[in-house]
Amino acid sequence: MRKKMVAGNWKMNKTVADAVELAAGVAGQVQAGTGVDVVICPPFTALKPVADVLAGSAVALGAQNMHWAEQGAYTGEIAPAMLREVGCAYVILGHSERRALFGATNETVNRKAKAAFGAGLTPIVCVGETLEQREAGRTEAVVRDHVVNSLAELGAQLANVIIAYEPVWAIGTGKTATPEQAQDVHAFVRGLVAGMADEKTAAAVRILYGGSVKPDNAKDLFSRPDIDGGLIGGASLKADSFVAIVNAAR
Ligand code: PEP
Repeated sequence: MRKKMVAGNWKMNKTVADAVELAAGVAGQVQAGTGVDVVICPPFTALKPVADVLAGSAVALGAQNMHWAEQGAYTGEIAPAMLREVGCAYVILGHSERRALFGATNETVNRKAKAAFGAGLTPIVCVGETLEQREAGRTEAVVRDHVVNSLAELGAQLANVIIAYEPVWAIGTGKTATPEQAQDVHAFVRGLVAGMADEKTAAAVRILYGGSVKPDNAKDLFSRPDIDGGLIGGASLKADSFVAIVNAAR
């Protein structure tokens, strides 16, 4: 039985003061032992102060990106061990905004996923098609390309990756994939993982849905057999709506 996960991607929002307040609001309402892994991913500047707020709580910390190298001349980048040092357990990789705006590719996402595991971080790897690709009937081809190439050569760690299926047309648009549309792609992704490894790995891997998840649509999405929780953008910026989504996953 896969444990559900709800992760909040705060993107480029929240000063340190705002982040600390939001993290405290979330941690204060999420109890241990609810059967859901809860993660929040603030911007880099707020990671350490938020880690201090989350200490001893049932909420884990994640970052939104990182470099694959251990250290070196990579101005503006953050290394995996730096994230571990400030208390991160997770890192989002290959978010569609990074793929569309900042040159992330399957190859760089794959290097980062390997480096994340090497540093003791669990990668949350995002995959998903644009509206144009969906309308051209290319959803499965695009998702296959993202999954097979971003998650190549991970060996036994493939079972521990968190995959986030995020149709680009549903991110921040208020348009959610229907539970049926999402379930279809999630089942397809699980089948891809079976082909890359085996049925046991496919049965273990957690696949989150992301794209305009809100308190009122979360339960229906999360009740589908291959949807193991959500990666939440806009609705993670308020403690009450994020916690309501966590509760929908229980
Ligand atoms: C996201 O960016 O990962 C996301 C799912 O955003 P939203 O929930 O706002 O659509």
